[in-house]
Amino acid sequence: MNIDNLIANVIRADIRADSAYVVPDASGYIKLDAMENPYALPEALRQELATRLADAVLNRYPVASYATLKQKVSAKLGIPAGYGVLLGNGSDELIQIVTTTVASQERRAVVLAPVPAFVMYARSAQFAGADFVGVPLKADFSLDLDAMLAAIAEHKPAVVFLAYPNNPTGNLFATDEVEAILRALGETGIAVLDEAYQPFARRTFMDRLGEFENLVVMRTVSKLGLAGIRLGYMTAAPKLLAEFEKVRPPYNVNVLTQVAAEFVLDHVEVLDAQAASINAERERLAVELAALPGVEVFPSAANFISLRVPDAAGVCAKLLSGKVLIKNLSKMHPSLANCIRVTVSTPEENSAFLNGLKAALASKQAAT
Ligand SMILES: *Cc1c(COP(=O)(O)O)cnc(C)c1O
Repeated sequence: MNIDNLIANVIRADIRADSAYVVPDASGYIKLDAMENPYALPEALRQELATRLADAVLNRYPVASYATLKQKVSAKLGIPAGYGVLLGNGSDELIQIVTTTVASQERRAVVLAPVPAFVMYARSAQFAGADFVGVPLKADFSLDLDAMLAAIAEHKPAVVFLAYPNNPTGNLFATDEVEAILRALGETGIAVLDEAYQPFARRTFMDRLGEFENLVVMRTVSKLGLAGIRLGYMTAAPKLLAEFEKVRPPYNVNVLTQVAAEFVLDHVEVLDAQAASINAERERLAVELAALPGVEVFPSAANFISLRVPDAAGVCAKLLSGKVLIKNLSKMHPSLANCIRVTVSTPEENSAFLNGLKAALASKQAAT
């Protein structure tokens, strides 16, 4: 048998043409490419967590209702009274659940987002068999509201994803423009406000759920400091959430995640304090970056900063040779030409990045 024939007969053409989502191996590097919180849990908490994990019931499926974890998420992370939560194996899975719920063979659904946006919106739409429409942001990365409203009128998207703040640009969209999108969608589409960076932005649409029945608020504990446990959550009008719940695999959140999240959320003030110091470092880093010649810094409400440099590929290569890993955004979208994204980390790691960047900029100048 020829395995290539087998694959050609079995696997979808669009998947065969695709390449896998590449995550670089970062061992030995200062890892500033994935918006992780650099701080570990304090030792005392780690010891207590170990005890809790030792008691986790690994031979049984998770309790299917996830009632305790949901209550904890609601109480500690600000879900309004009267709203439920849907849990995901990371918010990546929630994005997948939303796109799967709207697309079918009979009715090609459209998923729309301003671009550049978080890559998983387009990928999940494609995998679900939906059409993805990207509407370019303005040059300053604010929403092009006229273009968004025109695209909504033309394509009638079932879902609009809005990352708030946006990844990879870092900015918050204007509240009145998000409202205009929610109103334009009305009964024909939902808007998913992806608040992955809410711990840093401290801005939310959670308190607007009562006003907009087509609003879904999605979040994750990843950027807050628990990327390793993979836990996302979302909320919406109860009837709407119940539809998404049908698509969720029954035991998608595992027992170890459940135990760890329930424990750490009881000490969420520890993570909030870490987020506050990351925010303070973001301000320092932004000021120091803005002072560098040839560097354009974009405002950020998240735990990363995007900036434009004279030669992004050269800067990334130079940093990599100094064992500092950041993200080159240049190829993501034309508006991101020569843009790079750096995760805000500890003062030491941020300084390592700054020094590496300065050296790269200096060697570039010497070369020209
Ligand atoms: C990181 C990120 C996510 C994914 O979060 P996980 O919960 O780790 O899957 C979702 N949306 C945006 C905008 C992100 O930046």
